[in-house]
Amino acid sequence: MIKWTLIVLLVLFLTLLTQVGGVVMLLAILLARIFGWQRRWKKIVLSLTLYLIATFGIIPQVAPIFGREPVQHTEQIRPATWFTVFTNRNYVRPAVNNLLITSAKKIKPFGIQIIYLDANFPFINGFPLLPHLSHDDGRKLDLALVYEDKEGAIIPAKKSRTGYGIYVPPQNGEINQTQRCKKAGYLQYDYSKYFSFGAVNTELNFSEKGTKALIEALLENKSIQKIFIEPHLKSRLKMTDSRIRFHGCRAVRHDDHIHLQIHP
Ligand SMILES: [Zn+2]
Repeated sequence: MIKWTLIVLLVLFLTLLTQVGGVVMLLAILLARIFGWQRRWKKIVLSLTLYLIATFGIIPQVAPIFGREPVQHTEQIRPATWFTVFTNRNYVRPAVNNLLITSAKKIKPFGIQIIYLDANFPFINGFPLLPHLSHDDGRKLDLALVYEDKEGAIIPAKKSRTGYGIYVPPQNGEINQTQRCKKAGYLQYDYSKYFSFGAVNTELNFSEKGTKALIEALLENKSIQKIFIEPHLKSRLKMTDSRIRFHGCRAVRHDDHIHLQIHP
């Protein structure tokens, strides 16, 4: 009984983390039964092998039938962490890939790379990629902010292991949206600080010119419906495009990453 409860919890956890991991594990359990395998290590190796075949062999071929594909990697476009790819959290509609490729060309002269964070799962509209409730249809993607060194040279890098949770906080006189939201009772507003898994590249600073160039390049595409960044960054970067919106207190703060979404 305890064993089956654990299996159910693990299947649930793997489903929420990777979408297909739970199903793959059930398949491995079934196959192990058919083969008459008793040893746990054999079942674990089988689960992992099937998972790798599914993630890197099968899903990238099948997802396009359902309208999604992995984010295309180029010299200038890459994930903040390979965990995103390993967990199938890197799927978007083809229009998002087109958007990234055209934007990347525009910012190439600045030495800016597009470092992406969580995207969407490969299948099923309405299946959210937790903790991002809205990343459920292939239209959404999070990007890292742009950073520079002390001399002001743009350095393609992230500031935390996951790309989330290390903020560019408001300065004196800027809107402090986090304070406002937390005062209004939205205590989850800065909970992404627990998902940084450690700071890296602490010597780098937020690049205003780099981040602005990246957002402007994105906005040149008609396919962009909305971009979310924290209000104090929008005003610090002197950006007025009406597609740059405030996401509301029910979301989490966006001064550690940029959220973009394309039109349906
Ligand atoms: Zn997002």
